[in-house]
Amino acid sequence: MSRAKANEIEAKCVAKGMRMTEQRRVIARVLSASGDHPDVEELHRRCSAIDDRISLSTVYRTMKLFEDAGIIERHDFREGRARYEQAPKDHHDHLINMRTGDVIEFRSDEIERLQAEIARRLGYRLVDHRLELYAVPLDEKSTR
Ligand SMILES: [Zn+2]
Repeated sequence: MSRAKANEIEAKCVAKGMRMTEQRRVIARVLSASGDHPDVEELHRRCSAIDDRISLSTVYRTMKLFEDAGIIERHDFREGRARYEQAPKDHHDHLINMRTGDVIEFRSDEIERLQAEIARRLGYRLVDHRLELYAVPLDEKSTR
């Protein structure tokens, strides 16, 4: 779902008039091509494989820049580190496998409807939401 064309983030940066250095281009390309939700260290690893002059702090600064421009989304999945994805065209929510840290994207029209209905009952019009499900695999033996 979040897998996008390899240069989509770069194209958005250019459209916003952002100055694109070679390193920013690499970082944009790497995140665009990422189908998962990498953190800064993982992004840095992937960028280093392309250009080993890219430093961790450059990746940090660039993520902040892209985030402030609304081009990418930052997630906090309770791991003490931010994870990123390209701002999706279509809304989705996330399920986090607490054992592996894997992030699974899903969308439920039922949940979408219910959330809007709850907001409405409280006297509000829903404009946005974030939903994260923290879960362990069903086949896992209970330890408690
Ligand atoms: Zn996602």
